[in-house]
Amino acid sequence: MTGSCNGRPPAPLLEVVNLACHFGQRRHPLAQRRIIRAVDDVTFTLEPGESLALVGESGSGKTTVARLVLGILPRTSGDVRVRGEPVSFGDETRRKALSRSVQMIFQNPLDALDPLVRVRNQIIEPLHIHGLNGSGGHMARASAIMADLGLESTLLSRYPHELSGGQLQRVVIARALVLEPQILVCDEPLSALDVSIQAQTIDILKRQQRATGMAYLFITHDLRVVRHMAERIAVMYLGRLVEEGPVETVLHAPQHPYTRALVASVPGLSRRDRTRSVPLSGEPPKASSALRGCRFHPRCPLAEPRCRAEVPELLPIGEQHRVSCHVVCEGPMQSETLPPHIARGR
Ligand code: SF4
Repeated sequence: MTGSCNGRPPAPLLEVVNLACHFGQRRHPLAQRRIIRAVDDVTFTLEPGESLALVGESGSGKTTVARLVLGILPRTSGDVRVRGEPVSFGDETRRKALSRSVQMIFQNPLDALDPLVRVRNQIIEPLHIHGLNGSGGHMARASAIMADLGLESTLLSRYPHELSGGQLQRVVIARALVLEPQILVCDEPLSALDVSIQAQTIDILKRQQRATGMAYLFITHDLRVVRHMAERIAVMYLGRLVEEGPVETVLHAPQHPYTRALVASVPGLSRRDRTRSVPLSGEPPKASSALRGCRFHPRCPLAEPRCRAEVPELLPIGEQHRVSCHVVCEGPMQSETLPPHIARGR
């Protein structure tokens, strides 16, 4: 269903609306149950051929969002739709159908592969699962994908432990691509690879995207790869989106205090004077229901009294650029410099 009937525009390829995932946690049998809000009110869309990088520290909720998008984790509220079709947890028939459109690449290739099964069988297994025979046969399909990814077809008869890290990650990519998905969710796909192999893998992913028009949801904590992989970036902090926009805008002129600290922590990433960044202090607290107002307020040097009471909305401050901060959203939007009231707070 594309939703294009009745003159309405087609539904976005991926639509995530007010997505939330909360967990109950009880530290002691007699203690009151504490609610951890792992993901809260996350909204974004993804169109064909587009790449969105979801970034943030460990524990920011990026991987939870990926699992909710794939329907392998139950959501507390909100919606995930692929071409207008809702993604639901627990409905195996629907999830199987969805997995043809949405595939995932995991951080560690060895976690995604069975050490006792030859590469060939691992690549064609999704075709068997979906009852797809393909005109040229499974083996021809596996060989064609291996060639696309620059892998010798002789590797097909090997076991995972006989392959290098870069070859393994390409096998995982081949396994994900064999179903010709429309969306590829990449969860830290480069972090287990050497730097030289990272560059090759980025090239492969970009080439595949150009050839197929696939959309990427690219999850990473490494801002240096974002510029190579994505056109849009969404920054998460403790389960909420705090800033979203075009990569060049956000990395060149980050607005949210957390994004500015994140960008400033990577040497040479931003052309902005690094002394303008707001220093971060302390560890991120738990995203529990006890934390009121802006979740960043315990670490934010710009926090005002209302930051401790009111949750800031994600509001537009420029073209396709949204920020969730009481202070930034009140100030004038400037592309090259900090809003004056923030500059005073340095
Ligand atoms: Fe800091 Fe307040 Fe903005 Fe949150 S809303 S980032 S605490 S200034």
